[in-house]
Amino acid sequence: MTAPLRSNNLEAFWMPFTANRQFKQQPRLLVGAKDMHYTSADGRQILDATAGLWCCNAGHGRQKIVEAVSNQVAELDYAPAFQMGHPKAFELAARLANMLPAPLDHVFFTNSGSESVDTALKIALAYQRARGKGTKYRLLGRERGYHGVGFGGISVGGISGNRKTFGTMLTGVDHIRHTHDIERNAFSRGVPEYGVEFAEELERVIALHDASNIAALIIEPVAGSTGVLIPPKGYLKRIREICDKHDILLIFDEVITGFGRVGTPFAFDYFDVMPDLVTVAKGITSGVVPMGAVFAAKHIYDTFMDAPENTIELFHGYTYSGHPLACAAALATLDVYEEEGLLTRAADLASYWEDGLHAMKGLPHVIDIRNLGLIGAIELEPIPGAPTKRAFSAFLKAYENNLMIRTTGDIIAMSPPLIVEKSHIDQIFETLTRVLKSID
Ligand code: PMP
Repeated sequence: MTAPLRSNNLEAFWMPFTANRQFKQQPRLLVGAKDMHYTSADGRQILDATAGLWCCNAGHGRQKIVEAVSNQVAELDYAPAFQMGHPKAFELAARLANMLPAPLDHVFFTNSGSESVDTALKIALAYQRARGKGTKYRLLGRERGYHGVGFGGISVGGISGNRKTFGTMLTGVDHIRHTHDIERNAFSRGVPEYGVEFAEELERVIALHDASNIAALIIEPVAGSTGVLIPPKGYLKRIREICDKHDILLIFDEVITGFGRVGTPFAFDYFDVMPDLVTVAKGITSGVVPMGAVFAAKHIYDTFMDAPENTIELFHGYTYSGHPLACAAALATLDVYEEEGLLTRAADLASYWEDGLHAMKGLPHVIDIRNLGLIGAIELEPIPGAPTKRAFSAFLKAYENNLMIRTTGDIIAMSPPLIVEKSHIDQIFETLTRVLKSID
């Protein structure tokens, strides 16, 4: 017999990245989802302006994906990931490799963005050793970078909140500065004008440690979780040049920007800059089944394949790497993206989105607005002594008004499913305007 529910049955779940005590007094429970909307436990339709957590790019409850996953679970629920395989993992890797420009042509599967990041960092380090450059052991990241929550990810990440309470980090990591420059670039539309010179920071840090000691730099082409920081014109190209000059691998963390978010399949397409390794997750399955991946350039994969026959070339992997359900979900998701043109749809809607978003300039507390593709951010002036409070009030108020937004610090971030219609965009900004007018 099941034990009777305790009176406070929310208590046992220690929720991730959540103010647990606040939540448990004022729970926000979602019980269903279809297309652009969630259904809340109190029966309301909540417009999803965040694609879940930047992941449900195809929208919710998509029949094709639902069927693919349910058929797969009935046919092959699990296959060992090591020294064995199943056809869908190969099919998916080949399909992704076909979507990618040369030299990116190999795919390593993980189960999340954090695992993709740790995998990419480990591949970078192992690659340097495999080609006889083992002194290249340092990793570089960027302030305000978010690369998940593994020890690798928080070490190369640049968010003090994610680092300060955990003591130990990876050694040999350094950071270059972020690209946020609100003085010069406030209310820029799309790619901001000023700040290409921030890339020269990389030269400074390389000079400090010497290139012979540096394996890789990891950056998000558009920093998402720290508030949608769009790189200034020319910045990423200059970063690539500097990495090339010093024989340092460039890793793009595209966990958010991958799969159509900025109007091209990947942000490296948009910025026309080719990284050596790319981390993805979220949109690969539209959030339906956890999955991540690392795309690796040919020269990296080939270096490992120089190892003697019958040896395991990379001592790394997860029980659920290339899980059959995730592969089935991803293949069906790619079908949906292709059939509906979703990987480039953000480009068609970008100017409508931008106009709606920037119409909020002048509303109370708004100190900056940023956008690219179907990503947007509104930065609010922090309340002195109470950072994050104002944005969190906006989040609660929006939820009361049937709109799901996300906040990070004092920044409201939005990234609707790529199936969003103009009428939804209107509704998002109408509701948000009311919300911003109503908060203190
Ligand atoms: N990298 C980036 C750029 C992300 O935005 C995130 C998640 N928001 C991650 C890594 C971590 O992904 P996950 O939460 O799936 O581990």
